[in-house]
Amino acid sequence: MISLIRRLTCGAALLLALSVPAAAQTPAFDFDQLRDETAQRLSEYLRINSSNPPGNELATARWLKEVLAKEGIEGQILDTAELGPGRANFYARLKGNGSGKAIALVHHMDVVPVSRELWSVDPFAGVIKDGYVWGRGALDMKGHGIMQLMTLIAIKRSGMPLSRDLVFIGNADEELAGLGSRVFVERHRDLLADVEYVLTEGGDVRVENGKTRWFGLGVGEKQVYWQKLVVKGKASHGSVPTADNPVPHLARVLTRIAAWETPIRLTPAVDRFFKAQAQAEAGQHRRWLQDAAAALRSPKGRAWLLSEPERNALLRNTISPTVLVGSNKTNTIPAEASAELDIRLLPDQGTLSFRRELLRVIADTSVTLSLIGDIPRRFSAPLDTELARAIERTASRLVPGVPFATAVGTGASDRPYYASAGITCYGIDPYLVELEEGRRGFHGNDERLSIENLAFGLRLYAGVLQEMQGSGKTVSGER
Ligand SMILES: [Zn+2]
Repeated sequence: MISLIRRLTCGAALLLALSVPAAAQTPAFDFDQLRDETAQRLSEYLRINSSNPPGNELATARWLKEVLAKEGIEGQILDTAELGPGRANFYARLKGNGSGKAIALVHHMDVVPVSRELWSVDPFAGVIKDGYVWGRGALDMKGHGIMQLMTLIAIKRSGMPLSRDLVFIGNADEELAGLGSRVFVERHRDLLADVEYVLTEGGDVRVENGKTRWFGLGVGEKQVYWQKLVVKGKASHGSVPTADNPVPHLARVLTRIAAWETPIRLTPAVDRFFKAQAQAEAGQHRRWLQDAAAALRSPKGRAWLLSEPERNALLRNTISPTVLVGSNKTNTIPAEASAELDIRLLPDQGTLSFRRELLRVIADTSVTLSLIGDIPRRFSAPLDTELARAIERTASRLVPGVPFATAVGTGASDRPYYASAGITCYGIDPYLVELEEGRRGFHGNDERLSIENLAFGLRLYAGVLQEMQGSGKTVSGER
């Protein structure tokens, strides 16, 4: 597959840019006006407290419906019974002429809870100051959802002819169990039947000291494969030790698991991701990232690549033992001891073969191993599609000279649910946020998004969606 990966030279990019229809080259939007309106809308959206738990996405869905109704776009509030009191999914569609397949813009309407005392502003007041919109969800991901919403509205207002329908979806419960997208995908296959692509969160844009190092399109993510280990023993008094104490038994098993060095495997997406990262490095480090396959064959290169935890996690299946339960009394030997393992598999890893390997390492048939939660769904998108190319071209116009990366996420998103419906999913971060700022704001305190970044995201979405309209005649089976 790697030979198919397109690595555009400037000349090739220009040629491709010229080959898209003229309409795509001249956005009809007043971006300054749109940016300011978007900031106001985001401020309103942030004022609806959709902290999960409990979520309260019925309120956000109602608000979205109202905003779109003013533009003549009819939205639907869905799945209220299935999701429980105060909860909902939201769906709307801007119709095109039907000649191409649809593109769905998907965001989650819930946010993570706040520690109010650690914020310098009210996290649910939608404060606009110092060039930023402040509030829980500004980055994750109401800000992103509003960029999608306002791009859709701007396209509707412009009267731009659409070959592909544009679908707008707001899901509940991404931050806890992913129930919203799961229910949506299960119950509304009809609404998704003609959807070719989903665009949602989960890109990877690295900005350090004002310099954008790479712009990453999220093409895959690790599979969540949590396991519980149980060791049985015999309950007795701690004053008389026996060989049936399950606690040291479990400890020995965990020691073997912790010492297991899972095999290293370089997937095409991660290889390309590292190549983009290489351009921010110099000397040997640059060479190692440029050709990770070769670097992994040399002891020094391999040690350096694996020394960075994030890179290590992209090169192998990982296991973190986390929860441990034995006795709750010092003088009591428990009847059983258990541990939970946070296992994350590479996007293309089969679960059965991994389980076999894990059992081999455990090497103890008295240990029981059981899956926590659902059977993991896979999400690994092709690197070379029309949408991926449109995003690459648009990003290269907006941030010229910045390497375009294919990012694989170590965390989980809603994308596997949509991917399970046969849709090609991608993640983007439609803003250029400094690494430190992002780390502080994402699930942290004083989350905020600059108005300048709203303008960036609007230009990115508008550019991509316009390009895709120029070429919506999809041959079935292309995917
Ligand atoms: Zn999110």
